[in-house]
Amino acid sequence: MYKMMTPGPTMVADSVMQARSRKFGNPDVDGDFCEEYHQVCRSLAELLHTDNEVYILGGEGILALEAACASLTEPGDKVLVIDNGIFGKGFADFVTIYGGCPELYTVDYHKPVEVDELRRFLEKHHDYKYATVVHCDTPSGVLNDIRSICPLLKEYGILTVVDSVAAMFGEEVRVDDWEIDVICGGSQKALSAPPGLAFVTVSEAAMQAMEQRKQPIASFYCNLLTFKNYYRDKWFPYTMPISDIYGLAEAVRLVREDKNRIERHQRIAAAVRETMKKAGLSLYLEYGDAATVTVIRVPSGIRDTEIIETMKEKYGILISGSFDVLAGKVIRLGHMGNNAKVEDVADMLSALTKTLNELGFVCQCEMGHMFQSQYSTQE
Ligand SMILES: *Cc1c(COP(=O)(O)O)cnc(C)c1O
Repeated sequence: MYKMMTPGPTMVADSVMQARSRKFGNPDVDGDFCEEYHQVCRSLAELLHTDNEVYILGGEGILALEAACASLTEPGDKVLVIDNGIFGKGFADFVTIYGGCPELYTVDYHKPVEVDELRRFLEKHHDYKYATVVHCDTPSGVLNDIRSICPLLKEYGILTVVDSVAAMFGEEVRVDDWEIDVICGGSQKALSAPPGLAFVTVSEAAMQAMEQRKQPIASFYCNLLTFKNYYRDKWFPYTMPISDIYGLAEAVRLVREDKNRIERHQRIAAAVRETMKKAGLSLYLEYGDAATVTVIRVPSGIRDTEIIETMKEKYGILISGSFDVLAGKVIRLGHMGNNAKVEDVADMLSALTKTLNELGFVCQCEMGHMFQSQYSTQE
């Protein structure tokens, strides 16, 4: 099996795989499972620095995004969709599906949202029920400053929905301090469990907005209100994927134990970027890369698929291309969660050096070694 150095799914620890194979009981009937589920939710809340409710949903990360929009959007609601990347723009579809009116705030895809520009926009336009923003927009790797953006939106009484699927646990997240009403996460990115689970935190204000709707939520599976009293009533809206949740519990435990996690992600990402420049490669973004992924332009004369295929077939390391407007233009190197390890990143970069050299792009350094020396000189 190849090493999976993609920006999600990431490599999963053996203990997580073992936890998933635990014998299981009936999650609908057995109160002990409800207790365990609740504990995992409390651990996630602690890691995300929030007193808000956390719900784990049985579905991949996208479910969290759709559930947030389904639960908040009433027909005719105006929603501000902050768009400086493919996932950012994608929120408009969810808003539309549930009858809302998305208004795109579209800015340059090569850098983070400029908070001062957004402030000037909001001075004139602020009649929105909620706004959506992506923390790390993975196809380009851009990291938005949700710490400034969310409190700014709240100044205008706009509820905040954040997609942090590809950032949380690799980047700092403080839900309560940053006034995030709903934040979306997934199992397969920096948490390093297999794909299959999503989770959300829901603030009092967001809960109220859902409860005070005039029209019912136009979904059952995406209706976050169905989870509201699960703990009191020891009842879930549908049978929980218990084995996935056992795996998630172990992945959360590993993240909690990993004390210098955020700092290590930052250091690895900085060293990868410096290495790319030294090798003569060019980063997609002008600035503002997330610590979880590095996105570089495909050198001219080479195809992204040739790089990815050679890396996989010859060197046993899977990296990723991109999609939508970025298809064929960039390749993406994941260094989040379990993949944020110096040896694994160095191996990936050594293989990338050989691959590019074989395909006719001469790297100006051996990137594995350069990365290691960049990483250690940061100390
Ligand atoms: C991975 C990811 C998701 C989840 O969706 P996928 O189906 O795995 O693509 C949502 N948002 C972002 C920003 C992601 O990177």
